Amino acid sequence: MNNNNQNNNVTKKAKECYFCVNNLEPDYKDTKSLRRFINFYQKIIAAGRTGTCAWHQRKLTLAIKRSRKMALLAFTHK
Ligand SMILES: [Zn+2]
Repeated sequence: MNNNNQNNNVTKKAKECYFCVNNLEPDYKDTKSLRRFINFYQKIIAAGRTGTCAWHQRKLTLAIKRSRKMALLAFTHK
């Protein structure tokens, strides 16, 4: 009777995907918004912590990696 309620495993806060809310797409040139998805050690923050949806998280990781290659973001913290 309750089998379609599977994505309710974690205590959900009112988190929404930054890109969906602002109607944006992750862009490797847009380091300002990419920076909010990487932590102090320049690691990509997990989707669950930022509230990014799976679709945008995939695009986001690609954008961040692309951005690193273009030397817009750092690979590691120094
Ligand atoms: Zn989204």
